[in-house]
Amino acid sequence: MGGNGNGKPLHAMVIPYPTQGHVTPMMQLSKTLAAKGLIVTFVTTYHRHAEITQANSCSSDPVLLEANKLGLDIRSAQISDGLPLNFDRSLKFYDFRRSVDNMGEALEELMNDLNKKEPPISCVIADTFLFWSLDVTKRFGIPWISFWTQPVAVYSIYHNFHLLRSHGHYPPKGIAFLAEELDDYIDYIPGVPNIQCKDLPLFLQLQDPNSDYVLDMLLKSYQSARRADWVLCNSFYELEAEAIKAMDAETPVLTVGPLLPSSYLDSHNPKDITVGTSFLTEYQPSEWLDSKPSESVIYVSFGSLVHVSKTQIEEIAMGLKESGQPFLWVLRPDIISSKISTCLPDSFMETCKSQGLVVPWLPQLQVLSHPSIGGFFTHCGWNSVTESIALGVPMLGFPLWTEQYTNCKLMVDEWKIGLRLRGGHRDDKVIHREEISRAIRTLVASEEGKAMKNRIMALRDSARSAMKAGGSSQNNIEAFIEDLKFTVHVGNGSQTN
Ligand code: UDP
Repeated sequence: MGGNGNGKPLHAMVIPYPTQGHVTPMMQLSKTLAAKGLIVTFVTTYHRHAEITQANSCSSDPVLLEANKLGLDIRSAQISDGLPLNFDRSLKFYDFRRSVDNMGEALEELMNDLNKKEPPISCVIADTFLFWSLDVTKRFGIPWISFWTQPVAVYSIYHNFHLLRSHGHYPPKGIAFLAEELDDYIDYIPGVPNIQCKDLPLFLQLQDPNSDYVLDMLLKSYQSARRADWVLCNSFYELEAEAIKAMDAETPVLTVGPLLPSSYLDSHNPKDITVGTSFLTEYQPSEWLDSKPSESVIYVSFGSLVHVSKTQIEEIAMGLKESGQPFLWVLRPDIISSKISTCLPDSFMETCKSQGLVVPWLPQLQVLSHPSIGGFFTHCGWNSVTESIALGVPMLGFPLWTEQYTNCKLMVDEWKIGLRLRGGHRDDKVIHREEISRAIRTLVASEEGKAMKNRIMALRDSARSAMKAGGSSQNNIEAFIEDLKFTVHVGNGSQTN
């Protein structure tokens, strides 16, 4: 597998968007492709590469650490995101994003350099948001594959953005409109269950100073994705059959997920236990978790990017304490802001010493698969949702940004594998400790919570089946590689686009 029939192996260049939630699934995709015989060059920015190096403190290239252990031919390359290494990308996130949109020249230079060696690059697999990489790739006359890191349902929403306009659901009508009684149903997006404006990705439900930029970037991304040779997505058929069928009629999306190390799925390769691309050093909580009763611990993490107000952090702390459940809480150093060191209520850690553990970062897959975990209090980032599904942990949704609102809606109302905190960050209202402790108890210690657990265990089995030999995602991965070989061999890698 993997050769193109000309004797040269396929050489895929994989370019993730340079944030944690994009680098991780695309490295796992790279491992999957390399295990099937492709050579992969994995492209990170100098800045993220330096972060991963610092987090993993190893002498060899840390990005390749896991791939090397597995004997995979993955190579590492870096380009600049256009900003100095010490630029605060957390504080000035949108300046960072704008700079990422201008990386085309650096990519072209890298491709020219790599093509001086054998084998030349046969295709580029780029994050959907790296829309500018399409034109660069087309100059080399090779296929361009768009990789979508969110659910197919969200893909359909953006893809059908014009319908929101024509039905009067865009531009947004303001925060008051999002109240339950005013917000009517959106039932016309192909493959997307009835949702309301409050369930749309944040940029579509509310206008903020960055909305125009984000919308422009999204529209460019979707225009490019329409011209992709393939669109791959980190989801699976059994989870999103309707959305996938709906997209089939327009721009087919091949689901290839959930993209997790094999030991968490089919155990086909028990040595494949981690992705190894964390930007922060992982704290090892196994010993603490071992000391807790089965399915009792609430795991709390809001991913790698979002910020939460100090007041909300304090309410969460008190809500966790009042729930009486053991908790394991990831509190990133920049969770409030990179300029504000995290402040938990005075003496909080002292009084909760035996109940909870607070750490800056940890190996999330390892945590979610631990038998003492009873629930996941999550911001509903798509990686977190798919990881929780694949490991059978019901969720408490606390969406804060971007498509997390839609993910939460699907998780609560479609798949019924969790619940959502009442109230919201969106309108700057704080969710109070009483609501937080009530919701935690419902999730981990009620009949309702048990029913959610049963449903997520059934979905977990579907996720695992999807990635097994003969499963829906595995079949898609194999079909994609075969088609890619054919396209590269015949030389019709969409030079026509
Ligand atoms: N993650 C982790 N350790 C942590 C917290 C998060 O490894 O302590 C990983 C998590 O497993 C997931 C990613 O960071 O793969 C976060 O991605 P997600 O899409 O959930 O959220 P984002 O960071 O993009 O908002």
